[in-house]
Amino acid sequence: MNYILILLAFLAIIFIVFFRLYLYLFPKNRLLILMYHSVLPETDNDLTVSLKNLEKQLKYLSTNNYKTLFFKELKAPLKPKTILLTFDDGYKNNEEFLLPLLKKFGMKATIFIPTSRIDHDSDKMTFHDLRNIDKNYVELALHSHNHHNFKEITLDEVEKDLKKNIEVLEKENIPFTKVLAYPYGSFPKNDANFFKILEKTDIEYGLRIGNKANFFPTKTPYQLCRIGINGSDSLLTFILKLIFGKLKL
Ligand SMILES: [Zn+2]
Repeated sequence: MNYILILLAFLAIIFIVFFRLYLYLFPKNRLLILMYHSVLPETDNDLTVSLKNLEKQLKYLSTNNYKTLFFKELKAPLKPKTILLTFDDGYKNNEEFLLPLLKKFGMKATIFIPTSRIDHDSDKMTFHDLRNIDKNYVELALHSHNHHNFKEITLDEVEKDLKKNIEVLEKENIPFTKVLAYPYGSFPKNDANFFKILEKTDIEYGLRIGNKANFFPTKTPYQLCRIGINGSDSLLTFILKLIFGKLKL
């Protein structure tokens, strides 16, 4: 009897410490969203995942029956093991290295585009690239126009910036989904007027970092969490992140 109590207490502590772990009991409500940036043959920083590591990670997801979706396909109830793969900043290397892996494993990913960087930075996809990238595997979405920290600019500036982000993609005939990844994962979370701007702009979901699984359908669509995958993560770390989200207490 005592052992059962100890076991229950232990499980309770694990569930409390790794909040959202309880979602394991409700797989139709558990939505995982992974966050990546750059993909290159070799990595020397946490925002770049090596091609080899990414291949191992996607292979793991594929052999363990995880299902990838686009945001525009997201609806409740979820299939168990639903996962969204997201890549920020629109790196050219996503087209070169990520896309062939998506095709190989039959997976989908969403790429968030800060429009001021297009046709400006040589390491980012051009308008032409974005228009032509295979939309069976890649969904494009919003990452602001100027990539400024939303906590450091006024709400007026946020609104103008988001309108510009949308306007540029529309003008260039680039199909996209109205989902926004906050630059640096940062947003004024206690400001209801910020969320009103998102509503007014018809943005369906806003993505922070937070490093935990989401309950879906969500009551806080503008605070969906993503789990950051780092360049230095081993496959074991990756697998643990799928379970626990945040690894550091
Ligand atoms: Zn970014």
